Amino acid sequence: MDFTFTEEQEMLRETVRRFVEQEIPPEKAREIDERDEFPHELLQKLCDLGFMGINVPEEYGGQGGNVVDEMIFFEELAKRMPVLAWAAGNIILYGNHIIGTNGNEEQKREYLPKLVNGELKFAYALTEPNAGSDAANIRTKAVLKDGRYVITGSKIFITGAGIADIIVTNCRTGAPGTKGITVFLVDAKSKGYSARPIKMVGHKGSNTCEVHYDDVEVTPDMILGGEEFLDRGWYQMMRLLNKERLVLSSCALGIGQAAFEYALNYAKEREQFGQPIGRFQTIQHMLADMATELEAARRLAFYAAWKEINGMECVKETSMAKYYCSEVAKRAALHGVQILGGYGYTMEYDAQRFLRDVLILSIGGGTSQIQKNIIGRQLGL
Ligand SMILES: Cc1cc2nc3c(=O)[nH]c(=O)nc-3n(C[C@H](O)[C@H](O)[C@H](O)COP(=O)(O)OP(=O)(O)OC[C@H]3O[C@@H](n4cnc5c(N)ncnc54)[C@H](O)[C@@H]3O)c2cc1C
Repeated sequence: MDFTFTEEQEMLRETVRRFVEQEIPPEKAREIDERDEFPHELLQKLCDLGFMGINVPEEYGGQGGNVVDEMIFFEELAKRMPVLAWAAGNIILYGNHIIGTNGNEEQKREYLPKLVNGELKFAYALTEPNAGSDAANIRTKAVLKDGRYVITGSKIFITGAGIADIIVTNCRTGAPGTKGITVFLVDAKSKGYSARPIKMVGHKGSNTCEVHYDDVEVTPDMILGGEEFLDRGWYQMMRLLNKERLVLSSCALGIGQAAFEYALNYAKEREQFGQPIGRFQTIQHMLADMATELEAARRLAFYAAWKEINGMECVKETSMAKYYCSEVAKRAALHGVQILGGYGYTMEYDAQRFLRDVLILSIGGGTSQIQKNIIGRQLGL
């Protein structure tokens, strides 16, 4: 089997790496983490360099790349600064993909070029206090009144909801369950919309918020795809899932790889009993496990992506990738702390940040348990 990347993809990886080295020295990543500030400036630089058009067709101002390109981009970025990858994800995944896949022509022309150049930021609002894994149970409702939809309800854990311009909001418009959900593109400046940031363990600066819709009015043309998609939002969102899982797998891989490289360097330098700790078999074995599992996880993720870009059925593989990559990266980050001993437990070394940042990957975008449920169903159980 051919596992090589194209020349363009190798160049893309190189370009992202160069960006990271020039613009995000490790001190910068630490600073943003400590200040818990949204990385506006860095995100705009990514826009200025055209990265946000990675998956947007050329006619709307992008490069028309595929999910493998996205994965390369996200892996490299998350390796240095996961919160920036998270912020870019809100544009590439929840902006470009959602509009590109489900928007009507007018919406594509209106939003895609502005997402690419940084004029507009999106946030994706599905989760509610009583509907997390059980997302089809959302209750935020939109009711048609005098020609406008009036949205009332609350969302929780919405990344970037306090800085975004458009909130892609999943609402209940019809029957309970999957058949009565509509997706609205809500202007964050609308009267009755509010977002309160919640302090998170990791991904500091992500601006993850609790959101309230207090009689927020939207016109019917703000339904994703247009009025004919009333009550069909669930199926629109289903079209996002494979790509979402693959992108999140890459973010996990990036953090896991960073934790591994950090611990490897430490193990070569730190001496105890007159020799580098990397000479002790226990430390070697931890690093060998990290390297092996990360390699296996990466192969699985790119195999799933290969199926996706070739139009093959890959629900099982993308769920496996999301589950496995996030768990492997979590194990790598934990080993990383252990390899640094007491220093790993201080805030002065990056090992703790990798661990804090990686924990969300097995929760957001469908928990590891939910991914295993999906894999089980795909196995006919
Ligand atoms: C930092 C952060 C950013 C986020 N960003 C966004 C965002 O931008 N937009 C958005 O819409 N959401 C976002 N989320 C929400 C995220 O997608 C949910 O937290 C996630 O889907 C889990 O839902 P929950 O937290 O309500 O947990 P619950 O669903 O209550 O799950 C709790 C536990 O029960 C387990 N569980 C639940 N159901 C089952 C089952 N059927 N079988 C087995 N185990 C089960 C879960 O695996 C988990 O371990 C974000 C969350 C965080 C923490």
